[in-house]
Amino acid sequence: MNIDVVGAGIIGLSTALTLADRGHSVTVHDPAPASGASHHAGGMLAPTAEVVYKQEPLFPLMRASAEWYPELIALAAKYTDLPTGYRTDGTLVVARDTADKTHLAELRDYQAQHGMEVEKVTTRAARSLEPALSPAINGAVRIAGDHQVQPRLFTQALLSACRAAGVRVDPQRIDDARTLDADQVVIANGLGARALLPYLDLRPVYGDVLQLRVPDHQYPLLTHVVRGFVEDRPVYLIPREDRTLTVGATTREDGRAAPQVQGVHQLLRDAIELVPAVEECDFLEATAGARPGTPDDLPYLGRLDERTVVSTGYFRHGILLSALAARCGAELVEKHKPSIDLSACDPRRHE
Ligand SMILES: Cc1cc2nc3c(=O)[nH]c(=O)nc-3n(C[C@H](O)[C@H](O)[C@H](O)COP(=O)(O)OP(=O)(O)OC[C@H]3O[C@@H](n4cnc5c(N)ncnc54)[C@H](O)[C@@H]3O)c2cc1C
Repeated sequence: MNIDVVGAGIIGLSTALTLADRGHSVTVHDPAPASGASHHAGGMLAPTAEVVYKQEPLFPLMRASAEWYPELIALAAKYTDLPTGYRTDGTLVVARDTADKTHLAELRDYQAQHGMEVEKVTTRAARSLEPALSPAINGAVRIAGDHQVQPRLFTQALLSACRAAGVRVDPQRIDDARTLDADQVVIANGLGARALLPYLDLRPVYGDVLQLRVPDHQYPLLTHVVRGFVEDRPVYLIPREDRTLTVGATTREDGRAAPQVQGVHQLLRDAIELVPAVEECDFLEATAGARPGTPDDLPYLGRLDERTVVSTGYFRHGILLSALAARCGAELVEKHKPSIDLSACDPRRHE
């Protein structure tokens, strides 16, 4: 089958690679591959730590995608040697003060009620796992099943894998999907899908994010992903094998695409509260990305008409959900029953 995929972010690339691996002839269209939300993302694969109250329909999708992630990593590795930054060291979630500790305990109960594995650890045990944690932390849990990739590496690896698998990468921006003449079209251009399908209710939810470098004398500063609550504000620190440390992320809907001073200040202050030696890192970069948000925080993933499949609106979980998007996107294109119930993701539900 000839298939056009609009958008080469993590969703378009992982879907295109899966389709090419299944023997289809695939073209991906994007004037700036991997430059959207995927470029700014932290890359946590966190079906447990990322749960948000009252988002139950998302949980099975997140869990399934986490289960399928090793397959997506293996698929990329079948076609490229480029690194992905995939690490399975796990996640520690820590609380700064007593109110944060209560928040952490409530969240742990909620996660446990939904069958998620969260191990309560003493602050002493947390500090023996991660000696750089502040002695002032007030509570901790360990989530062995929450992993990470480095999205900038992973999207480059996917791009290289796509090319090796025979996917054509066309630098054309698509303004009207009806002009494409493929047998099947996958609309996977993140927030850009609004312009192609105006009834998709997508909005940009900005996040400031920082890249630091750990100095030689402190490396490795951390091995787990460390998430925390500081005066109820969430912050995360993601250690990478290239000695960088990603610190994120704020959440704002003010329409301002540049990283904001207040956000950068808050992230640094909260990260230093949890891991004081962050103060000694090199400051490499502050950027802001726009998460493709939907009214119910669920993606738009489904068939639109005989020729068109939509796969966007992955909000704060698109890196994690890329394994699900790739597998189910390919199944939808081939008109097979998806591996998981996608009725909550109907692209026409907000029409
Ligand atoms: C600060 C921040 C932190 C995040 N952290 C995490 C995290 O830790 N874990 C997680 O799972 N998720 C995270 N996310 C969410 C995740 O980044 C997104 O859900 C995901 O990247 C969406 O991928 P996408 O491919 O749909 O969109 P994008 O990455 O935005 O890609 C869309 C692509 O489409 C192209 N495009 C747009 N319009 C057109 C057009 N008309 N024609 C052709 N091409 C077009 C663009 O150039 C772009 O390359 C984070 C997001 C942000 C902003």
